[in-house]
This record gives sequence, structure tokens and C-alpha cells, in this order.
Amino acid sequence: MPSKYSIGCDCGKTQLTLSGEPRVRGHCHCNACRILLNTPYHSVTAWNPEQISVDQGEDSISEFQHPTLSMKKIFCRDCGEVLYNTNGLGWKVVSQHLIAKRNGGVLPEELSSISHFHYANRVVDVDDELPKRE
Ligand SMILES: [Zn+2]
Ligand SMILES: [Zn+2]
Repeated sequence: MPSKYSIGCDCGKTQLTLSGEPRVRGHCHCNACRILLNTPYHSVTAWNPEQISVDQGEDSISEFQHPTLSMKKIFCRDCGEVLYNTNGLGWKVVSQHLIAKRNGGVLPEELSSISHFHYANRVVDVDDELPKRE
């Protein structure tokens, strides 16, 4: 089982490596994710800060502190792709879809969601077999 995963942005200037196992992997239905990323829910892997390293394109990476949320978006200045965001706990949250996009369209099984969380705040129902946590 690989314990390193590459991600990067659409223009190719940035490249990052995720190492080890994520702290969390799941579908987050919280309001904050929705406000930050304009998506009905956020399919995430969450990592400790030291698990993510920048291999290329440090100069192209900018961050934006959201004005009302305790969250930052970290993105490529050249193409605008969000590489990850931070949450209130300081974890680095990487979209499962970005990882899949950079791995031939396939999300490694060991990074796939094992639950839904903040499901009480959902704006869409999801009919799957995963546990739904409030
Ligand atoms: Zn880019
Ligand atoms: Zn969330």
C-alpha cells in the first residue's frame, strides 16, 4: 500500500506530497466547508501539517485567510487551483477529488470516505451505506 501521494495544480507549477495515513477521510457536510468552497459537501482527507510537503512551486503558492471562518485556502496563484484548505484545528484538508485527478482519475481505496459527518447540516441527502454522523 503506497503511503505517499502526489497532488498538484492544473497549470502544473506546483507539486506536493502527502505522506502516511490521513487523520480523517470522509464527506463533510458542515456549513464552513460549504461557505469556503461553494460545494454542497466536501469529500476530504485531513492531514497533520507535517504530512504535506511542497516539492515544487513554493513561489506560486498563496494563501487566503477567510474573513469570517477560521479557515484558509491554499492555492496556486497562477491557475487558481485550491491545493488544500486548513480547518479550525489546523489540519490540512485535501479534496479527495484533487487526489483522484492527479492519480489518473482514481482515488486510492485507502483514502476513500468511511463516513459522512456534520450530516445534520446537509443540503443534499446521500443514499449510500456509509455511517452518517451528526
Ligand atoms: Zn497552478
Ligand atoms: Zn466541513
